[in-house]
Amino acid sequence: MSKTVTVTGAAGAIGYAILFRIASGQMLGPDEKLRLKLLEIEPALKAAEGTAMELYDCAFPLLESIDITADPKEAFDGANVCLLIGARPRQRGMERADLLEANGQIFKPQGQAINDHAADDVRVLVVGNPANTNCLIAMNNAPDVPRERFSAMTRLDENRAVSMLAQKLNVGVEDIRDLVVWGNHSPTMFPDLFNARVKGQRAVDLVEMEWYENEYIPRVGKRGAEIIEARGASSAASAANAAIDHVRDWMLGADSLHSMAVASNGEYGVEEGLVSSFPVRLSGGGEYEIAEGLEVGDFARSKLEITVGELKEERDAVKQLGLI
Ligand code: NDP
Repeated sequence: MSKTVTVTGAAGAIGYAILFRIASGQMLGPDEKLRLKLLEIEPALKAAEGTAMELYDCAFPLLESIDITADPKEAFDGANVCLLIGARPRQRGMERADLLEANGQIFKPQGQAINDHAADDVRVLVVGNPANTNCLIAMNNAPDVPRERFSAMTRLDENRAVSMLAQKLNVGVEDIRDLVVWGNHSPTMFPDLFNARVKGQRAVDLVEMEWYENEYIPRVGKRGAEIIEARGASSAASAANAAIDHVRDWMLGADSLHSMAVASNGEYGVEEGLVSSFPVRLSGGGEYEIAEGLEVGDFARSKLEITVGELKEERDAVKQLGLI
């Protein structure tokens, strides 16, 4: 049986960077046939058709069909994997509450449509920002879907953190293990060098605390802005790559700890129900387990409180707006 993969915002920059990789088998493996369902808003349907034409022109052996629609019910019908990429960007002069409200109007009906129409084994990854809170909204509007099926992406922050540490220490990225980020996908996220290992050694012992706190953490957090400044456009290929990494490891397993934003059960004092990035173990089959018992000292605790505090504020705002 082939898998149905639904991608929202399919005509956008990340959509364009991810669809070819999904269809070539890089996300679900080289033996998994798939059907693509592309959700777009009406004005972007034509562009999505153009992308679909190119997908057909690749003659990918794994790709069985492509459907394009502006109707979430159709898009999520029978979906096994949903990538929620399309979101409303922050515009000049927009307050955070406006941004949350605008995105709530997207993620609430999408959560409801997933609840009513997706396959029984559905797995959801939210990429569109503010990703953690958009995920919270979708999850709370899909009461019949177990909440462990919902996640938001912090893997790009992790990949950035791994790459920057590898460059600093002049080692290969494969020498670094268990480097995870905690909290919100925002500049407050916390990349954890206390639990990360470099060739078996604690990463935090190999760097100066001054560099860690005042250069590394802010640079990982503001990498998106640095790319916009250099490229004149948001990062898209690296975001698509991280989404592929996230879903592939969730489905097929991984031998290192990774970062996923998932619903808290109260682990590490993170309030129950918040969608926060945690270190997770991935054994495959679409299961994850929050890794417990990791070292969280005073420094990490203070960073965690800031980023989780931000998640609470966003949660309270969307609650007030009646979105959850
Ligand atoms: P992108 O494809 O570049 O980005 C899509 C979303 O991913 C944005 O919310 C963006 O956040 C987020 N994102 C997460 N990580 C990153 C990262 N590292 N770099 C860049 N973005 C990141 O946006 P486009 O504007 O090119 O495309 C969006 C598409 O979504 C459009 O085609 C639009 O029509 C569609 N859309 C579809 C909807 C639907 O299907 N119902 C609803 C709304 C939009 P940020 O804004 O912070 O960069």
